[in-house]
Amino acid sequence: KMAGLIQTQPTSSTAIQTLERIGAHSHIRGLGLDEHLQPKSGPAQGLIGQKQARRAAGIVVEMVKSSKIAGRAILMAGPPSSGKTAIGMAMSQTLGPDVPFVMLSSSEVFSLEMSKTEALTQAFRKAIGVRIKEEAEVLEGEVVEIIVDRSLTGATKTGKLTLKTTDMETIYDLGSKMIDSLSKEKITAGDVVSIDKSSGRISKIGRSYTRARDYDAGGAETKFVACPEGELQHRRSITHTVTLHEIDVINSRTQGFLALFAGDTGEIKPELRQQIDGKVEEWKEEGKAEVIPGVLFIDEVHMLDIECFSFLNRALESEMAPLVIMASNRGITRIRGTRFRSPHGIPIDLLDRALIVSTKKYESQDIEEILKLRAQEEDVAVSSEALSVLTRIGSETSLRYAINLITTSHLACRRRKGDQVEVGDVKRVYGLFLDEQRSVTYLSEHSKEFMSEEDYESGIAAD
Ligand code: ADP
Ligand code: ADP
Repeated sequence: KMAGLIQTQPTSSTAIQTLERIGAHSHIRGLGLDEHLQPKSGPAQGLIGQKQARRAAGIVVEMVKSSKIAGRAILMAGPPSSGKTAIGMAMSQTLGPDVPFVMLSSSEVFSLEMSKTEALTQAFRKAIGVRIKEEAEVLEGEVVEIIVDRSLTGATKTGKLTLKTTDMETIYDLGSKMIDSLSKEKITAGDVVSIDKSSGRISKIGRSYTRARDYDAGGAETKFVACPEGELQHRRSITHTVTLHEIDVINSRTQGFLALFAGDTGEIKPELRQQIDGKVEEWKEEGKAEVIPGVLFIDEVHMLDIECFSFLNRALESEMAPLVIMASNRGITRIRGTRFRSPHGIPIDLLDRALIVSTKKYESQDIEEILKLRAQEEDVAVSSEALSVLTRIGSETSLRYAINLITTSHLACRRRKGDQVEVGDVKRVYGLFLDEQRSVTYLSEHSKEFMSEEDYESGIAAD
C-alpha cells in the first residue's frame, strides 16, 4: 500500500509554478488599511479608492483569521473593472504569506476535459495550502573532484564525487540523475555545494576562496566562500508549502508530477484524495504540517448552474474549505439549469450564506490614479496629455481596457524610439485594438460573417 509513501515534492529540481492570470494585478500588495481597518488615503499597498468595499474586505479577513467564517462565502457585486478581483487578491495577501489565491472563471467549469464537480473540486484544492516541515539530510562541502564513467553505448553513466570540509574528505557514488544535475548546474572542482540527500537536489553556494586565483574563476558575479568546517553531513529542518491539488497530482499514479507542468491533469480518483486528506490530518496532529486555507475567487458566478451551486453549498461545509469569493455584475437573472430567477443568478440558499460586498464604478480621478500606478508598475513613462486621454478611454469604455492600452501604446512608443508615451501612440493602438463595446458593435454589424447566434447562445447563454 502507498499509505506511508505520499509524496509532497516532485522529484525534480524544477520548482512548481502555478501560472495564474494575475499579471494585471501585480501592483496589488494588500488592502491598504490602517490599524483600525480604515482605508488609508492615496495609493496604499497598490489600492486606490473603493473605500467601503476595502473596509468590508478588511472585516472579512479578520473574521477568517479568528475562524468565524466557516460555511460562509463572500459575494462581490459591482460593475466590470471595479476592482472585485483586485480586492479579492488583496485579501489573500492580507491573510498572510504563502496564502494561495486561485481564480476560476465560471466558464472554465464547463470544459470538456472533466466533469463540473471535478473542475470545482480541483479549484477548491488548489486554494488550500499545506505547509510541511521536514527534516532533511544535506551534504555541504567543497568539490574536490568529479569523475564520470560512460558505458560504451553512452546510455548509462556512473561516477564518483569527492567532497571535503576543512576537517574531512569523502567519496560518494553518483547515479546518472545526479550526474545530469551536476552538469546542469555547471558544478566543477572548487565549487562549494549543498546537496539534499533525499531529492538529490544540488545547489551551488559559491566558489572556494582557495580557488580565487584560478584563471577560470569566472566573472565579477562569482561569489567566493570559505570551505565549510566540520562534518560533511547535516540535518536541516526545511519547510515548503504545496497545495492539496499539487499533492493529489504528484501522487496520482496515472499522471505523475509532469501533468502539473502540462496543466492537463484529468480526473483524480476520490479514493486518492481521501487517502491524502487522511495523511494531511495525521501530519497535522504530529505537528509536521499546517493547513493554510486560501482564497478561491469565482468570477462571473451567474454562469454556474444549479449543480455547481449545490456543490458549492456542500463544499463550504467542509472543514478544509478556502474562503470562497464569488463575483458578479448581474442583477436579477435566471439560475442556470432552472426556470427560476434570483439576484445574480444565485440560488437563495447560497445567497443566504453570502456576505455581500459591493464595489462602485470609479470616478475619473480614481481611474487616473490607477492608470498612473499601472504605468509605474510596467515601467512606462506617460505624458500628462496621454494620461488624460487614457483616463477618458477608461471612463468611457473600461478600466481594464485602458490598462491594456498602456502596454500596447508603450510598444508603439518604442517602435518610433520615443521615451514617453504620447497621445499619438495611444491613438494608434486605440485604432488597432477594439474595446469590448466597439467589438460587440462590430460583431453585430458583421454577425453573418462570423458564427450564428445559436452557436453563441448554446456556449455561454445566461438567460
Ligand atoms: P473586476 O474584477 O471588478 O472586473 P479588476 O479587479 O480586474 O475588476 O480591475 C481591473 C484592473 O484595475 C485590474 O488590473 C486591477 O488590478 C485594477 N484595479 C481595480 N481597482 C483598483 C484599485 N482600487 N486600486 C488599484 N488598482 C485597481
Ligand atoms: P480565420 O482564422 O479568419 O478563419 P485564417 O487565418 O485561417 O482565417 O485564414 C485562412 C487562410 O488564408 C490561411 O491559410 C491563412 O494563412 C491565409 N491568410 C489569411 N489572411 C492572410 C493574410 N493577410 N496574408 C497571408 N495569408 C493569409
